[in-house]
Amino acid sequence: MAWSISRNRKNIESLAKLQRSFKKGQIVEPCSDSSAWYKAYGTGTVTFPDGKLRMMSAGTDVAARRGCLFNLRGAKTLKIRFYLDNHTDMYDIQFYFSHDSTFTDYLTYSIRFWRLSAGWNEHIIDVNKLVVRGVGSLTREIVSMQIRVLAYEGKTASVTFDPIIRDESQRGKVIFMFDDGWDSQYTEAFKYMRKYSMPGVIAVIPTRVGTPHYVTMAQLKEIYSYGWDLANHTENHLDLATLGNPMLIEQEISLGEAWLNANGFSRASNIVAYPFGSYDNRVLLAMQSRRAGRIVMDDTVTQPPPDKRLVKIQRADYTAVPDKLNGFIDEAAYLGGVCLFLFHKIVSGTAADNLEYNVDFFKQVVDYAYSRRADIDTVTFSEWLDSCGM
Ligand SMILES: [Zn+2]
Repeated sequence: MAWSISRNRKNIESLAKLQRSFKKGQIVEPCSDSSAWYKAYGTGTVTFPDGKLRMMSAGTDVAARRGCLFNLRGAKTLKIRFYLDNHTDMYDIQFYFSHDSTFTDYLTYSIRFWRLSAGWNEHIIDVNKLVVRGVGSLTREIVSMQIRVLAYEGKTASVTFDPIIRDESQRGKVIFMFDDGWDSQYTEAFKYMRKYSMPGVIAVIPTRVGTPHYVTMAQLKEIYSYGWDLANHTENHLDLATLGNPMLIEQEISLGEAWLNANGFSRASNIVAYPFGSYDNRVLLAMQSRRAGRIVMDDTVTQPPPDKRLVKIQRADYTAVPDKLNGFIDEAAYLGGVCLFLFHKIVSGTAADNLEYNVDFFKQVVDYAYSRRADIDTVTFSEWLDSCGM
C-alpha cells in the first residue's frame, strides 16, 4: 500500500536524521525568484524552468544577479546544491556576495571543474573560507548577489540551483577505506585500528585474495568479524569505462558482489569502489540498483551524498604529512560532512607513490581521528549509509 510505504520511509528518514543529529538550516537565497534574478552579462541564458534558477554558458562567462539584503554575521556554513548537465564541459561556478551594487567590496567562492561531478552536486562551505575582495566582511550587509558560470571554450554547459542554506548542521564522520586488499591493510591498518576498536572498509578484488602481497581469506574473515565492511572493488579490477560491452560492466560488478555474498561478507557487498575511480553513464546505469558507488574525486562529502553512485574521497596523497590529513578530519567535523580517506598499501619507510602511505604517518592520523571522537565518528561505509537512511 503506497500510504504505508511512504509513512515507513518518513520514519526511516527521521530516525536517520536523529542518528546524524541533523539540524535544519535557514534559507539564505531560494534561487527561485524569476522577478529578482536577471542576466547581468555574458553569452548564455538565465531561465527558471520548474521554478529553479538555471544558467547556461555557451563557452563564455554568464552572470546572473539580484538585489538582496542579508548578512552572514555569526554564520558558520553555507550549503550550495546544484544540478549539472554536461559536467565535463563546465569549467567554473562562482558565487559573489556583495556589499554594494557595483561589486567593489564582496565575498566570493569558486568551485572549479575538478570538484564537479555528474548530476547533483553539493558543497558545504566554511564561511570563513569565502575569499574577501575589497573591504568585504562577514559582518557587513550583503545587498547584491551574483552567480557566474563558465563552460569550456566552444562547449555548452548548464546548471540548475537549489536554495542556498545557512548553518545546516549534523555530526561529521570519518571513514578509513583501503582499496585492493593489500596484505598491509591487515598487518598494519587493521591491527592498529583494532587498538581503538575503530572499524574500516576494505574494497576487495576477489581474484587477488590469497595471492602474494594480498590479504588471505582467513584475514578477511577476521576483519569482517570485527565489524569492518568488505566492499566490492569488482571481480578483476578492470577500468569499467573502457569495457566495450555494457554486459561486461554488469558482470564485473555482479561477480564481485556474488563472491562477497557467497563468502558471508554481505554487509557492504552492494557498495562498489570503481577501479581507478573510472566510470561512465553505462556504469552509473548499472549502479542504479546498488547501494552506493565511490569515485576518486577529492572533497568533503555531504550527508546524505547528493548522488549515491558518486561518493567522493579524501585521497591519502603519499607526500601528505599527517597534519594535512588531520585537517580533512577537522573540516568534516566542522562542516558536518564525511572525510572518506582512501589508502592502499601501508608501508614502513618513505612512501614512493600514491599506492603507498607511511605507517607512522598512518598511525598518527588514526590517533588523531580517535582523539576527536567527541566531535566526529569513525564509521564504516555501510554504517554511514544506514545513518543517512540509504
Ligand atoms: Zn584499486
